[in-house]
Amino acid sequence: MRQKITLREVGLRDGLQIHPTFMQTRDKLAWIVAEAGAGIFEIEVTSYVPPKLIPQFADAAPVTEGALCIPGLTVTALIPNLRGAQRGIELGVHKLNFVMSVSHTHNMKNVRRPPAESVADFREIVALIRSQPVNARPVICGGLSTALGCSYEGRIAVSQVVKYAVQLAEAGAQELVVADTVGYADPNQVRAVFKAMLAEVGSLPVAAHFHDTRGTGLANVCAALDCGITMFDASLAGLGGCPFAPGASGNVVMEDLCFMLDSMGYDTGVDLQKLVAVRTLVAQALPDIAMQGALARAGLPQGYVPAAVRQPA
Ligand code: ZN
Repeated sequence: MRQKITLREVGLRDGLQIHPTFMQTRDKLAWIVAEAGAGIFEIEVTSYVPPKLIPQFADAAPVTEGALCIPGLTVTALIPNLRGAQRGIELGVHKLNFVMSVSHTHNMKNVRRPPAESVADFREIVALIRSQPVNARPVICGGLSTALGCSYEGRIAVSQVVKYAVQLAEAGAQELVVADTVGYADPNQVRAVFKAMLAEVGSLPVAAHFHDTRGTGLANVCAALDCGITMFDASLAGLGGCPFAPGASGNVVMEDLCFMLDSMGYDTGVDLQKLVAVRTLVAQALPDIAMQGALARAGLPQGYVPAAVRQPA
């Protein structure tokens, strides 16, 4: 039995949020449909923030509604606060990704409150969800951004990450995600953080969210795999820059990640050729967006046999 890996597309949120050109709603939906068709079954489709803050997400409602029509797709969205959670519940989204920064300075700049207050906000969100009828409750995920480095504070102590992971878990998170928001992490650090965290909150599913800003993305995925992590965020064509490093590469490239995992024998459920083909659609819709990706540049190796059809050696 091959180990199953859950891959979550975050390009529509992480990739588009700092991109200045609005991607048309129909193009976003075409992207979601195509990528789900390639075998990506969880997609973060938008963010429930006020449109005047991030105009790219002005169409959060129709994008969510459209995505919810795709059979078998888990539709998720980012929420910064209680108001975002309310919108998500009204729309019937499957999963809410609440995000707070482990870095005090980053959280102050981002949501104007210390991390402890964000944990308090998270408790209110959980209470709101639990007040809904059972069949109308989205899964609530607690996200720790800047957990592996911060552009204001540099390295973040492992103990801080563990502290907030435990607090979110105690507050009712059903899942956690640890994010290297600015792409500072290295594999040794990833092992240290995930091992310490899993020792405390290992009963919850924990996902990893890496950026490839400094070329360590896939190496960090391997380090997290070593720790037993089986859920990863990535974005098609590595969309998702860093506001603090203009022009830098973004999230781990979904196609490259799928290729690496498939080569290693993991079960991603993804059709690599179909996945690479989704790039064309995105490139046509957003000609001014920078696309990364080694697999798309080089193609599959000669005679490549996907793990799903490979005979055991
Ligand atoms: Zn990110």
